[in-house]
Amino acid sequence: MLRAMAENSNVADGMVVTVHYTLTVDGNLVESSRDGKPFEYLHGASNIVPGLESALTGKTVGETLDVTVQPDLGYGEREDDATQVVSRSAFPDEFTPQVGIQFFAETEDGEAIPAFITGVDGDDITVDFNHPLAGQVLDFSVEILDMRPASETELEHGHPHGAGGCGHDHD
Ligand code: ZN
Repeated sequence: MLRAMAENSNVADGMVVTVHYTLTVDGNLVESSRDGKPFEYLHGASNIVPGLESALTGKTVGETLDVTVQPDLGYGEREDDATQVVSRSAFPDEFTPQVGIQFFAETEDGEAIPAFITGVDGDDITVDFNHPLAGQVLDFSVEILDMRPASETELEHGHPHGAGGCGHDHD
């Protein structure tokens, strides 16, 4: 019984947890790992939204749970003043602004924050710094498939490594 150890474990900080999940908002499918490979994340490293992470704490392999996450524990509340109209010239020449494209904007502090293009009108580009799921109540259905303690390197990086190693860019 090679799985005996995993079955006796509970989801806790420092565990790499493999799940299948489905996310719906207002009954509409947003995304699901069931279309492809299961999703792996490092528990306690903010790889997933806080409300889902805390609901998974202490759970075991084989458990299925339905979790409703309010915006404050999901992607945050929507902020109306987070929308801005910027000039086409603010973007690199090789970048073609299109509605729905996500990019990273650099703040004055040099921090990269995700933003979405929500409107293109000639040279006026409307940019929304809200996450597309901000302000939404998230309904997750999660099945815990597997878990294992994270390696030293994974803990250091704050995310799981697949069979191919890291595969991420690091600062
Ligand atoms: Zn890594």
